[in-house]
Amino acid sequence: MKNTGVENHTKLVLEETLDRLYSKKSEASSWVFVLLVIIYLAATCIVSVSAASAAGISINNRTIPVYTFAGVFTSLANMCVLIITMYFGKKGFATSLTFLLVQIPLIIVNIIVNHVFTSIPGIFSNVLTIVAVCIIYFSNKKIALVQKELRNQAVTDILTGLPNWYAVTELINALIARKIPFANVTINLNGFKNINDTMGFDGGNQVLKEVARRWKKIADTGASGTLDFITRLSSDEFCLIIRRYKSEEDVYKTVKMYADAMKESFSVFGCDFKMSASFGYSIYPDDAETIDQLVIASNCAMKNIKQESSSNHILRYTPDILEDNTFELEGKIRTAIENDTVFYMLQPQFDMDHKLRGFEALARMKDENGNFISPGEFIPIAEKCGLIDKLDGIVFRKAASYVGNLIADTGAEIILSLNVSVRHLMMTGFTEEIRSLLTDSKIPPSQLEIEVTESIMIESMEKAKHSVEEIRNMGVQIAIDDFGTGYSSLSYINSMPATLLKIDKSFIDDINKDDKSKAYVQTIISLGHIMGLDVISEGVEDESQLTTLKEIGCDLVQGYVWGRPLPPEEAQKVVMDSLK
Ligand code: C2E
Ligand code: CA
Ligand code: CA
Repeated sequence: MKNTGVENHTKLVLEETLDRLYSKKSEASSWVFVLLVIIYLAATCIVSVSAASAAGISINNRTIPVYTFAGVFTSLANMCVLIITMYFGKKGFATSLTFLLVQIPLIIVNIIVNHVFTSIPGIFSNVLTIVAVCIIYFSNKKIALVQKELRNQAVTDILTGLPNWYAVTELINALIARKIPFANVTINLNGFKNINDTMGFDGGNQVLKEVARRWKKIADTGASGTLDFITRLSSDEFCLIIRRYKSEEDVYKTVKMYADAMKESFSVFGCDFKMSASFGYSIYPDDAETIDQLVIASNCAMKNIKQESSSNHILRYTPDILEDNTFELEGKIRTAIENDTVFYMLQPQFDMDHKLRGFEALARMKDENGNFISPGEFIPIAEKCGLIDKLDGIVFRKAASYVGNLIADTGAEIILSLNVSVRHLMMTGFTEEIRSLLTDSKIPPSQLEIEVTESIMIESMEKAKHSVEEIRNMGVQIAIDDFGTGYSSLSYINSMPATLLKIDKSFIDDINKDDKSKAYVQTIISLGHIMGLDVISEGVEDESQLTTLKEIGCDLVQGYVWGRPLPPEEAQKVVMDSLK
């Protein structure tokens, strides 16, 4: 194996980390050991002399025989060997056992030859101490083993056996502290979600293990010529630290070797398939000098190369790569929530005769400078950083209150459709939230609709289904959003208590481009009808699409052709017009 010296360095970093984590008991210093041995030997000498002595000491006119002190010093000697065994591991155990075993024949000789019968209790005490010493040593050994395992688990990813994110963070920190140059590579498997969707979690886990095995082999054998440390961060995300390279070309070659290791096909549950991964890297100290900057830079490069469909999946960070604006956006979302500047628009939905059905509420947000941020950007981030329930909640309350009043004032039989994210849907208080929304807004349950996206429902079916069933039982309508994008099975859709299918815009875009696309939409519509659902087409932009949709039996439309998302006051006008 190559690079043993630096490998030891990596191990050292991990050991330091582990010791810090588990505050490993360090052995007491050797002078304590020597002191204890001296006390033991001195006490033992005193015992043998005092046990054989017939003299006495006079205290308060009473004569106490010297041999009675033998017991006191025997206890002191025993205490010393117990402490030595406790704190000096193998060395302590061997020393204690030797002392105790050597003493037995000495005591016996003393009794037989010198007739010192006061030493008889000493034999018992010796044997018992030997038992105690053995118990202490072996239970200490057992504890140490368990601790070692715990220590290793803290820095190991259980599924793949690779070091985990904690280990790599420690390594990066240690390298930065020692100013050792290295490359930080963020790796993400391409299309891993599909593997999980089609083969289940077991299949996904098999893939992760196989990927880890291939990469670990390269790192362990030093085949790349550089010193590599491969770790799994989470799900399908890995991190590779490369050291001991001469030029940037060496770094690229190493990364390429890891990429090439994916070329051989994978075989899971008898299925053979190909996989690839995206690699983004940054170099310390050239690209960034702190761990946060390095990670952001590598992530940025990785995301960039992932979006490109080229066959090369490797990219080094350069400042012109778009900054990952996650943090910035998260801050903006928080500010908007705090300042109550999240608002909503209402996009009308119609039947095929252009009669108003209702509105979908769509979240909107502006930053401090008044610039619009698109929901396509802020919704995924709000989901990621746990703000989505707050954000959804604001839209829910504001839109429901407005539309509730509108219904109360005009008696219009319009439906308000609300988008819900699965993270929000699965929160414990979700059904209660909907219940109080109905109470507060006074919207009749049948005039409220909750939109849940198809792909999300598949991922978290069982848990989501329960919440969906509960709100359906309240009389609320359920729409399956973005239908057609999630590859759900018929039996699955059938088991959902849905009332509406929303055909995704991407299918409507192509509807007049070829017969196949039209037939596809027609099939979805028939499918919906067979299951007793109404079907709405989203993103209808022109008259020709409308004509085709009428022809193939679509029930409802939503799109720029008949109405863009509107501010509430304008939506009110649409309601008033519909009542004329
Ligand atoms: P969605 O639920 O599929 O919403 C429909 C999107 O298509 C909206 O984009 C709407 O403005 C747009 N759209 C409607 N008709 C047309 C058309 O004819 N042409 C084109 N080009 N676009 C059309 P928007 O408002 O940007 O929302 C994007 C996504 O953000 C929504 O997709 C939804 O998934 C999510 N979203 C919006 N508001 C909320 C919310 O309050 N909560 C949650 N959880 N998600 C929301
Ligand atoms: Ca929607
Ligand atoms: Ca949609």
